[in-house]
Amino acid sequence: MTTSQPSGLHILIVGAGFAGLSAAIECTRKGHRVTLFEKVSSIDEITRYGDIISFDPNGSRAFEKWVFPDTSSVAERMEEISRQTEWLDLFHYQGEFLTRQSFAEENRWGRRINGHRGELHRLVYEFVKTRKEEVEVRLGVRVVEYFESDGDEKKGPHAGVVIKGPDGKMEKVMGDAVLAAEGVRSRGRKLVLGLEEEDEQPKSSGYAVYRASMVFTHIDDGNIEESWQFPGKPEEALAYLEGWCSVVRELVKATPPGRLIDYKLVYREPLPTFVSSKGRVALIGDAAHPFLPTSIQGASQSIEDGTVIATCLELACQSNKRWDMSKEQVVPTALKAYEKLRYKRVHKAQAMGPKTRERWHKADWNGPEGVWKVPEKLWLLREEWLLGFDAEGDT
Ligand SMILES: Cc1cc2nc3c(=O)[nH]c(=O)nc-3n(C[C@H](O)[C@H](O)[C@H](O)COP(=O)(O)OP(=O)(O)OC[C@H]3O[C@@H](n4cnc5c(N)ncnc54)[C@H](O)[C@@H]3O)c2cc1C
Repeated sequence: MTTSQPSGLHILIVGAGFAGLSAAIECTRKGHRVTLFEKVSSIDEITRYGDIISFDPNGSRAFEKWVFPDTSSVAERMEEISRQTEWLDLFHYQGEFLTRQSFAEENRWGRRINGHRGELHRLVYEFVKTRKEEVEVRLGVRVVEYFESDGDEKKGPHAGVVIKGPDGKMEKVMGDAVLAAEGVRSRGRKLVLGLEEEDEQPKSSGYAVYRASMVFTHIDDGNIEESWQFPGKPEEALAYLEGWCSVVRELVKATPPGRLIDYKLVYREPLPTFVSSKGRVALIGDAAHPFLPTSIQGASQSIEDGTVIATCLELACQSNKRWDMSKEQVVPTALKAYEKLRYKRVHKAQAMGPKTRERWHKADWNGPEGVWKVPEKLWLLREEWLLGFDAEGDT
């Protein structure tokens, strides 16, 4: 793995989901030092469970560049434990086969990796651990506050977080920039948007999913204010499956006790900005733009975020040396560039989630132009602008 010269920047990252881990890895590839905070005290709490996840070529491209000391890449190791699907079969809910969508054409864009979310997540985490010279991982600490200063260089680093450790003790940690990668319920948004937490609750999408080794969407009649993740009961899931083909019903019945989660799908309107007013705190991943599963892009986009932000920081450091840009402008310039590069693209990708969901949930089956006659109407949209994209090259 090629790594740039040390940049002198210290980046604080909050959250060890795909966004935080990817940003940490990409920062080390660009010579930045990283401290990563994660509230769970063992990564098993994240990786033990999990449904399926798919990485499209625009996301999996990064895995090729992440190379373990034994020279195997994260992409190669993922392929050993994942399933290579050359096509997607779509069926009527009563079991009749409808259409096969081939993915063969997509090989020119790169790998498509489908696997167990927890296993693939663990692999990325293990890779981060091989970078221990450059990344300090602090588990079991919850970030409770973000802050930034105007950037008087003589006063030292300009951005920071307050963390609460497992013993309840508070500690202030300073760095040059903070990346908030804490998922849909991000505290970083309070500083970036200047809002109180209660003013910016995510909205219900109207749907929830049962998550085990498969995902199964159902109408959500719960209350978003209360909680968005509950233990799911197979018998309640089965109630939504009256009249469905027996394969699906049997799959639900076979779910081991305690392994079903009923999870609310939430969305947000596009945020006005991803970057704080002084330019030292940025939102990345679902904290900036939650994705519905039907886009099949949330994790891939969060990897793109990490790649773009790490590269912008590297390029801003180079500009600082070449053109004598003032040093305190390096981080704000890089973070603003990240927002500019990401904003339109990520929202265009995000919009594909509701689009596919409507096509699937509200399909006209029997009309003259219905899907029995034109089954391709239910195919996933597979477009070059999205899947053939190289975030690092583009930046
Ligand atoms: C059912 C379902 C299926 C999906 N399928 C796909 C798919 O096939 N392909 C795809 O690309 N995307 C898919 N997505 C979307 C994808 O999972 C997300 O977009 C992506 O995982 C977001 O990653 P993240 O790192 O931003 O957030 P998260 O994964 O939510 O990670 C946030 C991390 O931050 C930690 N954290 C939170 N608060 C704090 C705090 N205060 N201090 C410290 N740590 C904190 C959390 O513990 C967590 O580990 C799916 C989503 C769902 C719901």
